[in-house]
Amino acid sequence: MSPNRLMSIARSLLPAATALVSVAPLAGATPPAPAVRVGIYDYASVPPDQMARVLGDLVGLFTAVGADLAWVDMSRCPSRPPHAAYCYVAPDLTVVIATRQMADTLMPRSNVLGFAPRTELEQGRIAYVFYDRVRAVSAAGDVGWLAVVIAHELAHLLLPHRSHSDSGVMQAAWNARELLRLDVRQIGFTARQAEQIRRRVGRTLLARH
Ligand SMILES: [Zn+2]
Repeated sequence: MSPNRLMSIARSLLPAATALVSVAPLAGATPPAPAVRVGIYDYASVPPDQMARVLGDLVGLFTAVGADLAWVDMSRCPSRPPHAAYCYVAPDLTVVIATRQMADTLMPRSNVLGFAPRTELEQGRIAYVFYDRVRAVSAAGDVGWLAVVIAHELAHLLLPHRSHSDSGVMQAAWNARELLRLDVRQIGFTARQAEQIRRRVGRTLLARH
């Protein structure tokens, strides 16, 4: 992979998809209510310490825009009380961290790091990120960009169609050198995107009740 190659992140390429899955609370934390529940399916078996960092970065990115999201790790869903109830609650939105094989099947173009199926009129509910590809363009041992790719794809489920921007999380393509140099905590959503995300999260909560 050339260091100058542009890494495309997330294009809305497929019809909208929905997924209803069971969820479990993260690290003993009970999701605050009300909150839009985001369920994570980790098929790529991201190491627990890396996942903890990624989730910390995600909480930071969305808390910064005032979006009340509860992150739930469905892959580590306990089957018994006290958390069993969460395992049978459908999340509002789903993130699939796909294996290399899944990625190659879903999106053969190897420079795509993730995608979020939706149509122009209908927002999707499931976002895919490709762990091995993200790791390949990250500094050794650093998976900080996994949080950005997840945030980018998830935001496609919250923002209007064609919501890319010239900078920040919703930048459409990244130079591989940028990925190695930039600090994940230095980028975020634009003010307009933040407002749109807050509004959409509020609407999702209203629709649930
Ligand atoms: Zn995108």
